[in-house]
Amino acid sequence: MDHTPSATPLTALKGVGDKVARKLESLGIGVVEDLPFFLPRAYQDRTHPQPITSLLPGTVATVRGQVLSLRERRYRRRVTLEMMVSDGRGVLIVKWFHFSRWLKRNLEQRFPVGGEILATGRTDSYAGVLEMHHPDLAEVDEDGGEGIVPIYPLTEGVTQRQMRTIVARALERTLEKIHDPLPERTLQRHRLPDLRNALMGVHRPPAGSDVEALNGGDSPCHRRLKFGELFFFQLGVLHRKHVLESCRAVSLPADTSLESSFLRSLPFTLTSAQRRVLDEIGRDLEKEVPMHRLLQGDVGSGKTLVAFMAMLRAAASGRQAVLMAPTEILAEQHFRNMVIWSDGFGVGIHLITGGVTGDQRREALLRAREEGPAIFVGTHALIQEGVSFRSLALAVVDEQHRFGVMQRLTLRDKGRSPHFLVMTATPIPRSMGMVLYGDLDISTIDELPPGRKTVVTQILGESDRAKLHLSIAKEVKEGRQVYIVYPLVEETDRSALLAAREMAEKYRDKIFPNMRIGLLTGRMPPREKEEVMGAFREGHYQVLVATTVIEVGVDVPNATLMVVEHAERFGLFQLHQLRGRVGRGGHQSRCILMTGPQISGEAMERLQAMARTESGFEIAEEDLRIRGPGDFLGTRQSGMPDFRYAHPLVDRDLLADAREEADRVLAEGAQIPAPLAKEVERIWAGRLNVAVSG
Ligand code: ADP
Ligand code: MG
Repeated sequence: MDHTPSATPLTALKGVGDKVARKLESLGIGVVEDLPFFLPRAYQDRTHPQPITSLLPGTVATVRGQVLSLRERRYRRRVTLEMMVSDGRGVLIVKWFHFSRWLKRNLEQRFPVGGEILATGRTDSYAGVLEMHHPDLAEVDEDGGEGIVPIYPLTEGVTQRQMRTIVARALERTLEKIHDPLPERTLQRHRLPDLRNALMGVHRPPAGSDVEALNGGDSPCHRRLKFGELFFFQLGVLHRKHVLESCRAVSLPADTSLESSFLRSLPFTLTSAQRRVLDEIGRDLEKEVPMHRLLQGDVGSGKTLVAFMAMLRAAASGRQAVLMAPTEILAEQHFRNMVIWSDGFGVGIHLITGGVTGDQRREALLRAREEGPAIFVGTHALIQEGVSFRSLALAVVDEQHRFGVMQRLTLRDKGRSPHFLVMTATPIPRSMGMVLYGDLDISTIDELPPGRKTVVTQILGESDRAKLHLSIAKEVKEGRQVYIVYPLVEETDRSALLAAREMAEKYRDKIFPNMRIGLLTGRMPPREKEEVMGAFREGHYQVLVATTVIEVGVDVPNATLMVVEHAERFGLFQLHQLRGRVGRGGHQSRCILMTGPQISGEAMERLQAMARTESGFEIAEEDLRIRGPGDFLGTRQSGMPDFRYAHPLVDRDLLADAREEADRVLAEGAQIPAPLAKEVERIWAGRLNVAVSG
């Protein structure tokens, strides 16, 4: 929050000692200059308390009155708390349905009988008596707050009244020094108040302000703050786009005879969606401007092949191409496929992972440092220091959501502005494309290869375990294979590792002593992982008990049953990815979601969404609906700035305005005007710099 050059210690404010300063710090307030930007979480309209006798049932109102009594009441097994409030003419009953001693004590202390209170909430009439349930209460004599009163987020040991005073003092002290980084013309065009007025307005809304708009964060003052963030966000995005466009990449022209003989060598034909995205990518690769493209397509839609064809083109032009995958298992699988696909085309394919050592590694690293066509596949090991590419023309990131922004960019920076393709199977709702990837072009594979069977999804509980065992036995008897997955919060989560290991043993020793059952966890040494995966792929293991290491990408067409234990602990995308491991061959496949005894409503919604649809897009929309935009975006992964006021998904109209305005400002060139550049830097907190330096 560095809007002003100076930084005044909090203790410089009257009434703020070391102790309070520390409390404020826990709220993210470090210096006096931060306080104006610390916004109220809500507003109470105390301007017009309504006489109780004039209250209309079903409306929200504020009432001012005296507390007559507070007592608990029993209705059969339920205990409620009831407060009687009177304004001299009418009586209102205020109720809380979740009785607790703590609540009662708290209410008694803050709103003693005889004192005056303000109660805001919805009133309803029950059997002719007016009631207000779970209202917002305020003490009248606590702070004498009148008019529209801001309610701040608090921490223990700081009261609402204290906070109001502290913020007011900070405003007095700093407001003069605050300069609006937004150009005046911009403010005028969008009819927004300047920063000073906006800050005054959010902390001290004038009487008569629209309280609903204030509470919805939609007042003109709030909109000004949001707009600022979104504008500087978009300036950064556009700037990055312009910088990329001004970089020069190596043009990779199509080699039509190579491509058609490659396609002829495949045991299948491309889907029309694959052909379309290949065209889009192909046109980018021909340009001398680096491609910057997101390839999204549902699990199993055949993205790897598309990426490989682009990589093959780079190799055919005598250059290098690299693909980075999030797990060794996946990198190896890609490697194996590419070795088969490239057979007869004379291109060297090299694997670089933590598990590749000795001569094989030395050879791969040597090829990377040398001139000449080559294709590299690997994990994070690719972006380690000491790995360098001589003529990298195309960098591909598979399952990009599994990498941090920095990792993706580090890969790209291994070359001199190479063409860049990121792939994801967790589709982004269309509405979000521009928001998230304003500077990225998007290609979508919206079709699965023909012949894919739908995967039937079942939700089972602990009492159905016998049924589960029957299903497993049936699948194995028919020659198919089964995954059983255990949740793992982190690779280091020992209890889940134990659970997987114990279950594998139990299955082996007790439940299915005649089956061949393998165990795969992320913690196993790479060689062992590879062996287990290989044995499963070749059909030696009939059942694979695993942690989520198999979540992404793994492709074993003969596996037809996916069992997810404690399915309630997984996110929707994860479940979707897991389910995507089956239904890859011609056989009917199933996914069984096992749930524990206690399961939240939200978790149940997730599981039901899984049972209802198989479309990644629908699941993405559903996830967005259930979790809300904040969690969905996962800022860290998306590489976006941390927004303080705005939400790019919720404030879409403002975002569109901000985009338009940023376009206008940057119309003349890629340079952000100096007075604005600092603010862009601040909003992006260094993230942009790195992005641009590539
Ligand atoms: P994802 O998009 O999830 O990465 P993959 O690239 O792993 O999907 O492809 C899934 C499977 O489909 C692989 O076995 C791949 O060889 C196969 N495949 C890809 N394209 C086609 C196609 N056009 N027709 C049939 N099978 C295909
Ligand atoms: Mg894939």
